[in-house]
Amino acid sequence: MAGKRELLMLENFIGGKFLPCNSYIDSYDPSTGEVYCKVPNSGKEEIEVAVQAAREAFPAWSSRSPQERSLILNRVADVLEQSLEELAQAESKDQGKTLTLARTMDIPRSVLNFRFFASSIQHHVSDCTEMSHLGCMHYTVRTPVGIAGLISPWNLPLYLLTWKIAPAIAAGNTVIAKPSELTSVTAWMFCKLLDKAGVPPGVINVVFGTGPRVGEALVSHPEVPVISFTGSQPTAERITQLSAPHCKKLSLELGGKNPAIIFEDANLEECIPATVRSSFANQGEICLCTSRIFVQRSIYNEFLKRFVEATRKWKVGIPSDPSANMGALISKAHLEKVRSYVTKAHAEGAKILCGEGVDQLSLPLRNQAGYFMLPTVITDIKDESCCMTEEIFGPVTCVVPFDSEEEVIARANGVKYGLGATVWSKDVGRIHRVAKRLQSGLVWTNCWLIRELNLPFGGMKSSGIGREGAKDSYDFFTEIKTITIKY
Ligand code: NAD
Repeated sequence: MAGKRELLMLENFIGGKFLPCNSYIDSYDPSTGEVYCKVPNSGKEEIEVAVQAAREAFPAWSSRSPQERSLILNRVADVLEQSLEELAQAESKDQGKTLTLARTMDIPRSVLNFRFFASSIQHHVSDCTEMSHLGCMHYTVRTPVGIAGLISPWNLPLYLLTWKIAPAIAAGNTVIAKPSELTSVTAWMFCKLLDKAGVPPGVINVVFGTGPRVGEALVSHPEVPVISFTGSQPTAERITQLSAPHCKKLSLELGGKNPAIIFEDANLEECIPATVRSSFANQGEICLCTSRIFVQRSIYNEFLKRFVEATRKWKVGIPSDPSANMGALISKAHLEKVRSYVTKAHAEGAKILCGEGVDQLSLPLRNQAGYFMLPTVITDIKDESCCMTEEIFGPVTCVVPFDSEEEVIARANGVKYGLGATVWSKDVGRIHRVAKRLQSGLVWTNCWLIRELNLPFGGMKSSGIGREGAKDSYDFFTEIKTITIKY
């Protein structure tokens, strides 16, 4: 008989030390539904201690040169890379994603985040201008803002947390990071590596717990002037309210309802596998996943047939299965929410062509209570349906026909979100026209999710405020000052 499994106990990381907490919350393995980890249930008290540590570390860290900070960021990248396999295993277990994805995307990208900002921080220049008729010149300087509060979601846990930590500390800030309470393990493992990388105590503090308790304590703290948040729109609303009395600098990276527009001249050989991936990668739990597919009517039937065939081959399996394309969803509550959308679509008269409610999954006994779901394709659905307007954030996508370019632009733009869009066509003129008119922070044409970290990332409308990237993150995590010299 198997013995009782020991629970993994996480601790907050403050001022370079691991500190226990008075209370803990359960964290589940999404592939089994079992509790396997205890996460500190921190609150105001822990935030006070973290603010003190970050405040004490700030003068020395902010006065180092970008070159000196860059050396440390590169060492963080190195130690992360040395632990890549361990981190990938942990990320997959904690989040439910396939081990293959954690190994090839999440952890390598976390490493890259440090390497990228280690380099980019050395390449910013300031502006200088002269007014010779008045005998003066002006120039700008940028200084770190102070203590940065960084809040991240559960879908790409270490990837998104390090995408905030790296630029914030590169620019000379000290940070208090709060990962999602659902996926805290890799952030805790990351803290264990910081001493070896030479990160001074108090520069990176990580406090664990729920949004309403520790997240709000962080956002409301008067000594934390800058908040970078990635997560859902309702949480962003709350963070905005809490930040308003302090006029905090805010970066909000939120959800999407991303369209793929497929014109009749699209190369379907490339478009179909790419659209299956863009709909279902990471269980559809990427803010950039496609969830509305508009297909020009002349190729609609052919596309749909081939798309459904390809989706049926998209294998759902336990996260460690190397042949699995998709693992488990994050939580029982989230699985139920995603399923409820399919139920609503069905009740509205839409057709469920594959996935939820049609096929059966065969999983090992131990994983029968895991949060698995098949990739689901819905058709015959109205643009006004909640499945076509609300972010589902799971393996569910809708396919609908369109007739003209004008019509599809209006329909694609007809939702409150504006994060990522994909356009498939061989007509260069059309691609430029459509890309320009889409209300979307990112438009991929004839591809999906190719990222250039130098360029701005972020959304329009309810998908957020602000952009992240080399220059954008630098601008966000610094204050600019204009200095005038009379000569
Ligand atoms: P969420 O808003 O529930 O939580 C995100 C983070 O905010 C978590 O750490 C959570 O604990 C914290 N939080 C919750 N309530 C809070 C509060 N009142 N005050 C302070 N912090 C609080 O989002 P989620 O469910 O973890 O993530 C999914 C969402 O994130 C989706 O909408 C997805 O599209 C979005 N997302 C956006 C991007 C992007 O770059 N635009 C990337 C990934 C995910």
